[in-house]
Parts: sequence; C-alpha cells; structure tokens
Amino acid sequence: LSAAYQQEIGLPSQSACGKRFSLMVNSGLAIELETTAPQYTDGVGLYRTEFPFIMRSRFPTEQEQVELYRKVLEMYPGRPVIMRTLDVGGDKALPYFSIVEENPFLGWRGIRLTLDHPEIFLVQIRAMLKANLALDNLYILLPMISDLAEVDESLRLIKQACFEVSDELAIELPKPQVGVMIEVPSIMYQLPELARKVDFCSIGTNDLTQYLLAVDRNNPRVASLYDAMHPAVLRALYQLVQQAQGLQFAISVCGELAGEPAGVLLLAAMGYSSFSMNSSNLAKIKWLLRRVEMSELALLLPEVLACTSAKHVRLHIHRFLEQKQ
Ligand code: PEP
Ligand code: MG
Repeated sequence: LSAAYQQEIGLPSQSACGKRFSLMVNSGLAIELETTAPQYTDGVGLYRTEFPFIMRSRFPTEQEQVELYRKVLEMYPGRPVIMRTLDVGGDKALPYFSIVEENPFLGWRGIRLTLDHPEIFLVQIRAMLKANLALDNLYILLPMISDLAEVDESLRLIKQACFEVSDELAIELPKPQVGVMIEVPSIMYQLPELARKVDFCSIGTNDLTQYLLAVDRNNPRVASLYDAMHPAVLRALYQLVQQAQGLQFAISVCGELAGEPAGVLLLAAMGYSSFSMNSSNLAKIKWLLRRVEMSELALLLPEVLACTSAKHVRLHIHRFLEQKQ
C-alpha cells in the first residue's frame, strides 16, 4: 500500500469531490532527512526549534540560529515555514538549563519561560528575522499560550526585535505573520480576542488532549485515558473550527491527530482544511483524502459526535475506513 501512497504524492491534495486541503510537515532536527520532498508539501506547518537547542551543550548563538533557520526557510522557497519559538520545559529539558519542578507540565514551559527570559526570546526572533531577509516565507508561532497578556508581551518583543534588526542592518524588514498554538484549554474561550491580535492559530492536539483530560501524555499508567478521540476533545475541536470560521481566523491542526487516518477524516468532516504532520504520514493522508467525498464525511460527523466514548468513535471511523482501503 505504501507504494500506492507514493504514486499519488505529486497529485493535488484534494477530496474526490474537489475540496482542497493544505498538507504541511512537522519538523525538528534534520529537516534535510524528511521523507517527503519539499515540492510535494504546502510548507512546514510546525518547525520545533527546541530540537537544535536540546542537541547542544549551550544556547546556540544568534548567528548559529540564523544559519540553522535560513537552511530551513531556503528548503521551502515561496511556501510558508511556521517556526515555533522555543518550547522547552514539561517533558523537554535543555541539558544546560536545569528546571526542577513538581508539576513540569503545569509549570515553567514554552512561552512562560521565554517571556521570563526575554533575552532568549529576542535572540531567537532576531535570528529568525535575519534568516528570513531574502526569503520572506517565515511565520512565527507561539507555544503554550494560556493568557492574552502573553500574546501582547510576545508581540511587543517581536516588534522590538524587528526594530533592532532593521536598525542594525539599515533595511526595511519583511514582517512575518504571527500565530498562536491552541493547546491550553483556557485560550479556546478567547478566540475572538486572539483573532484580533494575531494572524493565525494552530491546534496542538497532543497538549490540548493532555490538558483537557488532565492526563499526562507520557505516563504509561494513564495511557489508556489519553485519547484525542475522547468525545470531549472532539467537541472542543469542532467548536474551535466553527468559531474560527465565523471569525475568518485562519486555523490549522499540527498535533499528531492530523497525521492519523481516522483523525484527519474527522477533522476534515468538521471543516478543517489545513493539516501539518510528520512527513512519514503525508503520502498516506493525501491518498486517503483523495478518496473521500465531503458528502459522506458530512454524514459521518453527526454519528461520531454522538458517540459517548473514544472506543465507539474509533469503531465508527474504522468501519468507514475499511471501505476505503
Ligand atoms: C502539540 O502539543 O500537539 C504539539 C504539536 O506540540 P508538541 O507535541 O511539540 O508539544
Ligand atoms: Mg505542544
């Protein structure tokens, strides 16, 4: 089957009835090793900048970061590359920046840490802006936002970094679009305010599932409770896309759910059309989406949303998927 998927990798990302999708890749460390060639994707939907930080024994300098980011932006000329600012803390530790906490997933993570250390944030944004100079395909994404004040402070620092770089290089800079990860439940209820402040949002279903269900995403003892197909998570995802559409706020999904056949079908049925996934899943997801009619997804959605357990949701979708494969 994987040969069949590969045969269609160069064909348009659209349903059997012609609805277009945007399929992007998630990336971190060695982007050049990704299994899907850049020309077959719509860009990078999530570049996790923490990986190069984790691999080093000290913070990379601004110049090292410029080179790193430029390499990624250059691989996708004319296509968006969504770079997420440093998302450490939680399960991702830097060997040279120790954080000891009782509750790391509820603690000093992502934007909370970098706003407390604006020098880390500013250097990173400056490096991204410099890398983007001749390319203009950079989008900046903010992780772990739980409060609008964090958005305001991040935007203020991004503006400052823009000012500093244009001053230093004495040129006008291309202004990147800025977006927010929807992965902490609180921010789901502030979408209208968010839409007025930033250009786009991207749902991190891995953390959103963890925080909605209060289940540690890495703890094997509670692994059976961690399920993005939990009816509450699905209802949250449905509400989010409906609200975003009403606000004309660009929304996409970059958590693992988007790279799962059952997950992407459900998301497409809800109205999502922009997905980012590990590159190893892209050919399969494109192949699948090319075989579905939006009208059959429209029939599937109410049945699935009426399910009372993740198990039933999965059963329902697997029955549907069996007819496709
Ligand atoms: C997520 O939380 O869904 C996500 C995409 O980010 P990460 O897995 O890096 O936390
Ligand atoms: Mg996350």
